Amino acid sequence: MHELNICLSLIRLLEQNALQATPPVQRIKTVWLEIGQLAGIDLEAIRFSFPIATANTLAEDAALEIKIEAGKAFCHHCQKDVIIDSLLAPCVICGQYDYTITQGKSLRIINIEVI
Ligand SMILES: [Zn+2]
Repeated sequence: MHELNICLSLIRLLEQNALQATPPVQRIKTVWLEIGQLAGIDLEAIRFSFPIATANTLAEDAALEIKIEAGKAFCHHCQKDVIIDSLLAPCVICGQYDYTITQGKSLRIINIEVI
């Protein structure tokens, strides 16, 4: 599953950083992710995969908080920034597809709580 691989990569990255921290992190309690609405990531699958990915890691039993980043695009026809809620959606103002996505395709760790 795509989302499980995403979670495994994130946890691997977090663990590497946690082990290098001074003093070393003993436990990751909460992970905040920001996920773009246009990133093609299934949130339910992320929530399902997270506990599997964190098993036997520093983040075992950690809470997962997800913040959604809205999708935005610059419409070349309107010359305006518009909200786009799907990659298949037209510009909400002019109904055309002549736009460039400017926000909402990323996935990042925005914060972690550790002890
Ligand atoms: Zn437009």
